[in-house]
Amino acid sequence: MYDIAVIGAGPAGASAAIFAAKAGKKTVVIDSDKGVTKRAWFENYYGILEIDGPTLVERGIEQLKKFGAEYVRDEAVNARAVDGGIEIETAGGSTYRAKHVILATGFSVEIGEKLGVKTKDGTEPRVKTIYDVDAAGRTNIPGVWAAGTAAGVSVHGVITAGDGAKVAINVISELNGSRYVDHDVKK
Ligand SMILES: Cc1cc2nc3c(=O)[nH]c(=O)nc-3n(C[C@H](O)[C@H](O)[C@H](O)COP(=O)(O)OP(=O)(O)OC[C@H]3O[C@@H](n4cnc5c(N)ncnc54)[C@H](O)[C@@H]3O)c2cc1C
Repeated sequence: MYDIAVIGAGPAGASAAIFAAKAGKKTVVIDSDKGVTKRAWFENYYGILEIDGPTLVERGIEQLKKFGAEYVRDEAVNARAVDGGIEIETAGGSTYRAKHVILATGFSVEIGEKLGVKTKDGTEPRVKTIYDVDAAGRTNIPGVWAAGTAAGVSVHGVITAGDGAKVAINVISELNGSRYVDHDVKK
């Protein structure tokens, strides 16, 4: 049983996984590598003068692995609530169980719909359907959260990454039973 499963490793999912794994949570990331970020060129990402999408995505995956998150290149094709968490099945035939799931699935809400997550019309350009989340990122299914484009935030890399981090911090805080802060201090 993982503490946190993240579906999607674009800026939202990778950022969520970095925070989750760095907090010591047993984390798995399931990613089909079909996101929009690899098509982008960024000159508005805070702290980075310019970077191409494939490099940004690659660095995010490298960083989440650095903190001990398990990265699985596969597609989540089914998911259901089970005792104590959520069970996810992949196209490759694997099954993962986690106490909490963060859906960071970009323009697709298919896997959340299979779980019974409520959706609604998107408001951002070209984003048709999004998960219906509260301000913390919670969906209507206990233990299921959503972040990034799939959760309706503005479709910009730095914002989706920030949203993934926000939701992960909320999940970590819930697991810990107190508000979590991740502050490293300059050496
Ligand atoms: C051409 C283009 C140019 C852009 N230029 C800029 C720019 O200059 N500046 C800027 O800030 N933003 C730009 N953007 C927008 C930015 O790239 C996105 O808003 C942001 O990166 C989206 O991040 P995300 O993590 O929400 O989604 P994504 O990056 O799309 O990631 C979603 C991930 O979830 C995975 N996934 C989905 N469903 C499943 C499933 N069932 N199982 C497993 N994995 C799944 C996908 O494969 C994907 O890897 C641009 C976008 C495009 C298309």
